[in-house]
Amino acid sequence: MNHTTDFLLTNAIVLTMDKNLTQFEPGAVAVSGDSILAVGPEDELRQQVQARETIDCQGKVLMPGLINAHTHVPMTLLRGLADDLRLDVWLLGYMMPVERRFVSPDFVRLGTLLGCIEMIRSGVTCFADMYYYEEEVARVTAEVGMRALCAQTVLKFHSPDAESFEESLAAAREFIQRWKGHELIEPAVGPHSPYTCTEEILRATAELAVEFDVPLHTHLAETAQEVENSRQDHDMPVIPYVKKQNLFDAKVLAAHCVHVDDGEIHTLMHHGAGVAHNPSSNLKLASGTAPVKKMLETGLNVGIGTDGPASNNDLDMFEEVRLAALLAKNATNDPTSVPAPVALTMATRLGAHALHLGHLTGSLEPGKRADLILVEIDGLHNIPHFRRDANGVYAQLVYAAKSTDVSDVMVNGRWLMRNHSLLTLDETDLRKQAQDYARQIDAFLIEREQSVISKLIAIGGATEAESFEVQVKAHISDSTPILAALEKPEIEILYSRHYHEYDSYFLFEDPDQGSLRYREDEYIDPDGNVSDIRYRLTLIGQEQEQRYPNNALLSRSRYLAPAAHSLRFYREYFNPTKEISIEKDRLRWRVLFKGTEFYINLDRLDKPELGYFVEVKSRTWSRRDAEHKAEVATDLIQFLGATPDEIITKDYSTLAYS
Ligand SMILES: [Zn+2]
Repeated sequence: MNHTTDFLLTNAIVLTMDKNLTQFEPGAVAVSGDSILAVGPEDELRQQVQARETIDCQGKVLMPGLINAHTHVPMTLLRGLADDLRLDVWLLGYMMPVERRFVSPDFVRLGTLLGCIEMIRSGVTCFADMYYYEEEVARVTAEVGMRALCAQTVLKFHSPDAESFEESLAAAREFIQRWKGHELIEPAVGPHSPYTCTEEILRATAELAVEFDVPLHTHLAETAQEVENSRQDHDMPVIPYVKKQNLFDAKVLAAHCVHVDDGEIHTLMHHGAGVAHNPSSNLKLASGTAPVKKMLETGLNVGIGTDGPASNNDLDMFEEVRLAALLAKNATNDPTSVPAPVALTMATRLGAHALHLGHLTGSLEPGKRADLILVEIDGLHNIPHFRRDANGVYAQLVYAAKSTDVSDVMVNGRWLMRNHSLLTLDETDLRKQAQDYARQIDAFLIEREQSVISKLIAIGGATEAESFEVQVKAHISDSTPILAALEKPEIEILYSRHYHEYDSYFLFEDPDQGSLRYREDEYIDPDGNVSDIRYRLTLIGQEQEQRYPNNALLSRSRYLAPAAHSLRFYREYFNPTKEISIEKDRLRWRVLFKGTEFYINLDRLDKPELGYFVEVKSRTWSRRDAEHKAEVATDLIQFLGATPDEIITKDYSTLAYS
């Protein structure tokens, strides 16, 4: 037989990465149009094939292009923005606020261009992305000529490209409709993660993926905290929870899966889900180590991904493959875990299957698309070569080769790089454009970091409402007179409550910033049990608006919000110069006195032990009303038998501090 073909690549160590890890040396690959026509020993192919162009590979390794199984390519522009932080502080404190402000189609276009250059140079021919304005990622990737699974993000927050989840879901639908059937782009939907989505979003995105038979790309079980929260909120870990939302009706590509047990691995396997293992990201964010060996033994398709370049901080798959092999050995105390051929299979054939693109790419086999790379193995860092063991070449690639050893890249039968030169991309101006973004983002963050309130707003934690607060406070030696006074007919009790309160005050270098109070309110029921807990975050303005006779105090500028994150999160995000902890037992009454409503707080300070205090408080939105209340408040505290203190402290933190 004699076929005519476009290219015949000869004189190579051909690693097919097929099921049997077939090698040919010297081997050859025939490429016809966008596909591989034949793979085999060089002399056989020379006889079978008539090529328009024969290319001498000069003894390099010829193998399938690497599959980056999970990334957020446009985040190249956020590389190095915030590092060495915990996932929630990094994501909710930095990435998301900056993304909401800066991510635009232009940002995504530029970031994708940079990412594609970096990936082509390091031998990646296909990647799985998830970001905003995925349309731009798809467009740039197709122009450049790479293959990608592009997932349009859907999440419960308002995002850079959508005001609501309904809007982003509609955008995902249109995106899928536009790109479905494209030769290079596999469109997908990307519900960001169970903790940034609602049940409704998970169900709706799964339905969308099933409707169009496209993959669903998401993050699952990345941190122990995520699993713990899932157990608390839904009474089950992450995998059963998303299964319950029908997520696995879709062709799922799940990034991370660090904290999954044997049963969950079987669930993933049973539903044909692919997993993207992200060694650098998991190491850098200290998320833990995914049970990769177990997953592979179970038969899961586990690919390897770089994750976004803001959490890695690069898109270097050679480094990632090496780490995957090393990490598995360390995690299992077994140097035979994830040997080099397996690690490389994860980065090629298994990765393609994880993306649900295994029928198209991931190995050099006739009929598959011509997605291939040439790797030089004669660099000083990679000699000599032992040929006694056929697996030696995999070890060379995994443990010694560098991404810069990749010299040539072909995707879909088209050369994207020849002899280290990019053919479909122009790097001119890209550096300057990237630096322009960095300058703007720097300025934005510098301004934000200067003010506690703007940092609070950046994480969606403030409902800004200017109000006036009237307060009179007295230190008392005994609570009995207060309780007796409350029985008198002049005071009408509207309701009463009992709390244990745990307050953490964050103080800052600049006192004008005010202080931030994180309060855990334990509501104690009449039987003395904790029946409810709520968390509140309050920014307390420092300035005293006015001081009245009898030490009544008028203050304003308090910002209140429910605390959605942990104390630890706020501590790391706000980075206060000083922190004060206060614990107290509080009896609180809402009362009517002389026709005016007040709160009376009877506090016993347990930490530090400062004794009893009585406070009369009222909050209002009118200054005039506040002035009137200030007068009545001093009457009330005197009626209670207490003498307002000379030193009025707005908060116990001041007392504890002095
Ligand atoms: Zn990710």
